[in-house]
Amino acid sequence: DQDPRVHAIKTKIRVVPNFPKPGIMFQDITTLLLDPKAFKDTIDMFVERYKGKNISVVAGIEARGFIFGPPIALAIGAKFVPLRKPRKLPGDVIFEEYTLEYGRDRLEMHVGAVEQGDRALVVDDLIATGGTLCAAMSLLERVGAEVVECACLIELPDLQGRERLNGKPLYVLVESH
Ligand code: AMP
Repeated sequence: DQDPRVHAIKTKIRVVPNFPKPGIMFQDITTLLLDPKAFKDTIDMFVERYKGKNISVVAGIEARGFIFGPPIALAIGAKFVPLRKPRKLPGDVIFEEYTLEYGRDRLEMHVGAVEQGDRALVVDDLIATGGTLCAAMSLLERVGAEVVECACLIELPDLQGRERLNGKPLYVLVESH
């Protein structure tokens, strides 16, 4: 957290109380995207961490993992695989169900996109309860990939989502209480 870029990134994330439901403090990353320097710093920080780590696939979680995952994948020379909400992918899929901080959902992945021996980085904007990342890791591990790490911009540490990751390392840029 000593990296001077982190403070600027954190100030660009807008917190919207009671969205989409009462009691939720919504962490809005669209305001970060409006600042090209802060957006680039965000991507650069992940790229600096993962370059040279032999990661062969970046798996991005719909929808905001689709914003941050692809530029990281391109910069480190990995393929990008979208993990999508139900009925979006046209090919054969495998799926995992999970519970959200607000609601219930399912993630799907194309069969054949990730192979045995792939080294995976899972990317999303935020970890709350950890259910989403847990489902993403299961999809990757079911097809024989090794999940090297999960990476998020934001962690809500009060929800203890980290505890649900079965010891998998999680890297985050900022915490929000
Ligand atoms: P969870 O599965 O509980 O860790 O929830 C993480 C997923 O839900 C991520 O894809 C987030 O984008 C979204 N999410 C959950 N809580 C919030 C929040 N307070 N602000 C923004 N996004 C959230």
